[in-house]
Amino acid sequence: MTATLIWILVVLAAIGLYLSWTAGRLDRLHARIDAARAALDAQLLRRASVAQELATSQVLDPAASIVLYEAAHAARQAEEEQREVAESDLSQALRAVFADPELTLDLPPNVTAATGMDALTHNVESYLSPAYHPLCDGIALEGARIAAHSLERAVRAPKDIAARSDMMMSSMMGAIAFQKDLGAVHSCAHALGTVNDMHHGLANGIMIDHVMRFNLDAAEKKLAELARVCGAGSTAQSFVDWLTGLKARIGIPAKLGERGVKKEHIAKLVEIAVADTCHQTNPRPVSAADFERIFGAAI
Ligand SMILES: [Zn+2]
Repeated sequence: MTATLIWILVVLAAIGLYLSWTAGRLDRLHARIDAARAALDAQLLRRASVAQELATSQVLDPAASIVLYEAAHAARQAEEEQREVAESDLSQALRAVFADPELTLDLPPNVTAATGMDALTHNVESYLSPAYHPLCDGIALEGARIAAHSLERAVRAPKDIAARSDMMMSSMMGAIAFQKDLGAVHSCAHALGTVNDMHHGLANGIMIDHVMRFNLDAAEKKLAELARVCGAGSTAQSFVDWLTGLKARIGIPAKLGERGVKKEHIAKLVEIAVADTCHQTNPRPVSAADFERIFGAAI
């Protein structure tokens, strides 16, 4: 009888110990959640402050300033349960503001050419991606059309605000369209950025026609459609030829060798390109041997 009582007491004491230990852990967990939430709130306030400074700095156009100012104000005022929405609205407003073409007027021609080729590549590669997304296909085609009609102008006449505006839209459209993912041009560019520290847009600009030549048979219809919207003829081959001509006209080197890439870099470039995920949505599967041939031809 006494022994049973002792056992019951021991078990009760053990349960008590376990409960107090669990309560301690829960307290510490709550403290950490509160600290994380406070850090996020502080970050939101900091972003709201910076956004308000930007909105009132007079470097933005009036409409963008109002949108940004209101989002920043709402973020500052948001009650706890509305803060996630306020954060997302502020992010959207910041994106809207930075799509201001006037901010790009001072970009030098070589950076305009390289970033413009990146935007064009986003539109082209996302259109060629086999992922099913007709809405993005429409956006990508229009984004490519706009770049085709404005990139050269933006490079030759840096103060042409209409051309700058077009390129900014083409860039945004490419960024929307590439929810379909990209292709092998970007895998090559990521490798060139890693191994040769090459500017991302320049790397895409140099590689695009070399990779499209590789894609010719696998994406004949889509490349022909790109040729049509870009005013580059009506066949897949004419689109690739147009890309080569565009590069020459805007000062993008035809080959990698012109930017210091050498044969001895190829093995490392191939290794990184193969490991990159972008080429998984290339219209034609790309093996290590294919990448070796593509880089070899582009050097
Ligand atoms: Zn890119």
